[in-house]
Amino acid sequence: MPLRDKGIRIKSSRKGKSNRSVSDIVKDLKKANTPLNDYRDRSIAIHGLICAKCGKEFDHKSRHLLTVHHKDGNHNNNPQDGSNWENLCVYCHEDEHSRERLGDYLRGK
Ligand SMILES: [Zn+2]
Ligand SMILES: [Zn+2]
Repeated sequence: MPLRDKGIRIKSSRKGKSNRSVSDIVKDLKKANTPLNDYRDRSIAIHGLICAKCGKEFDHKSRHLLTVHHKDGNHNNNPQDGSNWENLCVYCHEDEHSRERLGDYLRGK
């Protein structure tokens, strides 16, 4: 009977679900290799320990006062060449985000 054959084919094709979980594992591995906090160090390495707005310079002791601003506002957009980053001191950064909540930023989110 042709109907039986159809039923078997559908069942076997459903077993292909395992492919999805493999890609999920690969995603997790990629995340582990590029920690989210890494972009701050990278941005400082590219742009230097200086506020892009007021020009205030920082050293390694005060570097926590220098924060990374995302030019397009998307925290997940982190190109490795630093084109979406701007190093701003906390004051200038607060000014830049005066309409938004900066709390998440300062908490390191
Ligand atoms: Zn500044
Ligand atoms: Zn910002």
